[in-house]
Amino acid sequence: MQNPRSPDQQRDQIERAMAGRPWTIVKVYRDDGISGRLIKGRPGFQEMLDDITLGRIQADLILVDTFERFGRAEECLTIRQTLATKYGVLVLTADTQFSDPTTSMGLLLSAIEVTRAKSSNETKAHDVLRGKIDTVHQKHWPGGKPPLGYQLESVMKVAFGRQELDYCLLVPNPQTRHVIQLLFDQAEATAWGTPKLAKWLNEHPDVPAELKPIGDSGVAHLLDNPIYYGELKWNSCCTDVIDDRRVRRSNLEHEIVRVPEFCEPLVTRDQWETVQAFRQARRERHPGRKKCGKINHDKKLIKPSIQGLALTFPLSGLVICGSCGRRMVARSCPPFIAQSGEERRYVRYECPANRTGGCSNSTRVHEAWLREQVISSIRDLLLKGDFPN
Ligand SMILES: [Zn+2]
Repeated sequence: MQNPRSPDQQRDQIERAMAGRPWTIVKVYRDDGISGRLIKGRPGFQEMLDDITLGRIQADLILVDTFERFGRAEECLTIRQTLATKYGVLVLTADTQFSDPTTSMGLLLSAIEVTRAKSSNETKAHDVLRGKIDTVHQKHWPGGKPPLGYQLESVMKVAFGRQELDYCLLVPNPQTRHVIQLLFDQAEATAWGTPKLAKWLNEHPDVPAELKPIGDSGVAHLLDNPIYYGELKWNSCCTDVIDDRRVRRSNLEHEIVRVPEFCEPLVTRDQWETVQAFRQARRERHPGRKKCGKINHDKKLIKPSIQGLALTFPLSGLVICGSCGRRMVARSCPPFIAQSGEERRYVRYECPANRTGGCSNSTRVHEAWLREQVISSIRDLLLKGDFPN
């Protein structure tokens, strides 16, 4: 949701506030229609920082309409300080009549700006959330894509003499509801794990082609969703921006809203619970089974808000499947005892979609071998000095 003040209006505002000051505009940067929440993805903003830090332009001031337009409060403060101390560039805002943030009055004002920017965002978010909680308790769909197997039914009302959308109901989708029933029946009958179930669905002729390929995490998501016995579990996670990256994180249990009998069920509660019991049993049989490279925070009291990555393997995230273009993941095979008597396990890169039938590339690439190859190629290039451009 963009600020209703368009970039043109913002520029007018800045120029009005500039009137009578002995300043010259060196360059104008704008990012039309782009949210200020992230720094990356804002070419104008990035260009401005590059111009200043690389010395391409000589400027003393950056003028913005309001502090919110410059970026998110947390990052802004640091960027603003770095610009002032390292490059002698001050960020001034038109709505504070360009008061200098380095004076004591300016410091106070900028502290107020930060607090105001943060709290107005929080108030907005809170109001939206309260509205949505009301919506879900009335058994109206809160927005977003309906879960697989369901579709939305619009209920209209007449306002000011014309029809408008009142709310949406979640109703079974006649084209896809059977997929959910197939999945739960198979999971109940076989107690298979999610990769095997995903593969089975991908090979099943009654599953519409546009839903394929289904991945194992997608299957896990379907099996764990209580909506299929009719109960809405809503607001279990939220998005946030940390380190200039959009992240999803879980909400606390008391923030999660549950609405029983929200919609028509696709499976019985008994069946859903049987499948959950199978899933729980599998988890207990394979404790601590995690993808290679994830840091385990289970024993920490204070959990970080984003999952960090331990780069155990230097090529993590850089090995791409040649058939489907997905990033290959490092997986270790079960440990075995070598002839020397020590316990060993091999780590191999594999295409994550191969196990679920979403990609035909079944190549397993030995991590140690690939690392050696890459490092020796780099070493050769460095020593020979003939770089391909
Ligand atoms: Zn692949």
